[in-house]
Amino acid sequence: MAGKRDYYDVLGISKGATEDEIKKAYRSLAKKYHPDVNKAPDAEEKFKEINEAYEVLRDENKRKAYDQFGFAGMDSAQAGGGFSGFQTGGFDDFGDIFSQFFGSGFGGFGGGTSYRSNQPVKGDNKVMQVDVDFMDACFGKTMDFSIDVDETCPDCKGSGAASPSDIEICATCHGSGTVITQRRSMLGVVQTQGVCPDCRGTGKKIRKVCPHCRGKGYNTEKQKITVNIPAGINDGQSIRVAGKGERGINGGPNGDLYLQINVRPHKMFEREGQNILLEIPVTAVDATLGTEIDVPTIHGDVRMRIDAGTQDGKILRLKGKGVPSLRGGANGDQLCTVKITIDRNLTSKERELYKQLQSLQQNQTKETIWDKFRKQFQ
Ligand SMILES: [Zn+2]
Ligand SMILES: [Zn+2]
Repeated sequence: MAGKRDYYDVLGISKGATEDEIKKAYRSLAKKYHPDVNKAPDAEEKFKEINEAYEVLRDENKRKAYDQFGFAGMDSAQAGGGFSGFQTGGFDDFGDIFSQFFGSGFGGFGGGTSYRSNQPVKGDNKVMQVDVDFMDACFGKTMDFSIDVDETCPDCKGSGAASPSDIEICATCHGSGTVITQRRSMLGVVQTQGVCPDCRGTGKKIRKVCPHCRGKGYNTEKQKITVNIPAGINDGQSIRVAGKGERGINGGPNGDLYLQINVRPHKMFEREGQNILLEIPVTAVDATLGTEIDVPTIHGDVRMRIDAGTQDGKILRLKGKGVPSLRGGANGDQLCTVKITIDRNLTSKERELYKQLQSLQQNQTKETIWDKFRKQFQ
């Protein structure tokens, strides 16, 4: 495909366009070039181009890859213009467009693309992975993190200019950040709106840049943030730290930082939601006769009764001995799975007693477990 156009240009939006702006621009263009409506020979090509651009820019990850690497950042199917959603209906916004299209009449054609590319936009959110110890996730902890944050330059208040008088309005776009180009076609004069190449959509030109931030309008600072990891947080959950994400655009506020929690596994306890799972070894004798044992829990040892005749795999519940609730409700439980273990290192005395038990069982008249088992094969 020769001469692929920049996706932002295709949609007539700035690099910093918000999701909303992308959607709006796409909808208005998709309406205009939909082959059912627009019978111009290049309408279908245009429509495909618009859809391809939208498929990339609407998706945060694809957009990032495109911003960084251009078309090389797209996978080959995408970059090769392999758009097929239009034939197969493979994108979910379609129904939406049609309802808007046919429902509200055709009156709005041509108008309605009122966007300003130089308006302040909140920055993107950022995600940071954070490792938390198993017990800290259960009971909470205050943790400090060192992060890099782009903060608005205090000297120029984000303008990037040495003084307010050093900012002048871009002569090319008269401050709008966008330029309208006209060209003749079979249909008459076609207008396209694009980002101003002189000011790259800011609408401003700076004569003398701010020495503190060297015209960037922000400074990257190392900051220490103190975060309260709440009791009961679980693996995969996130904590939001307001205003510490990616920097805003055109003086907009920073995005938020999300700390995604990775809970380190414990060597004994396993967690399932608010419950703690633990396998507890019980000797055959204790399982047969019953006993009391001290079971470790995250809250310390708890005395637990093993009833006589407890079977292997039985789950015993220690109520309230699980993980505290993140929302302040009741604790979870600890679920103990009985694992009956056979002693391999018997003393001679123990062996003697087991032998006595064995001969006793072989000579008695009562039906043994083995008898019951055999019966099933008869
Ligand atoms: Zn500055
Ligand atoms: Zn301009």
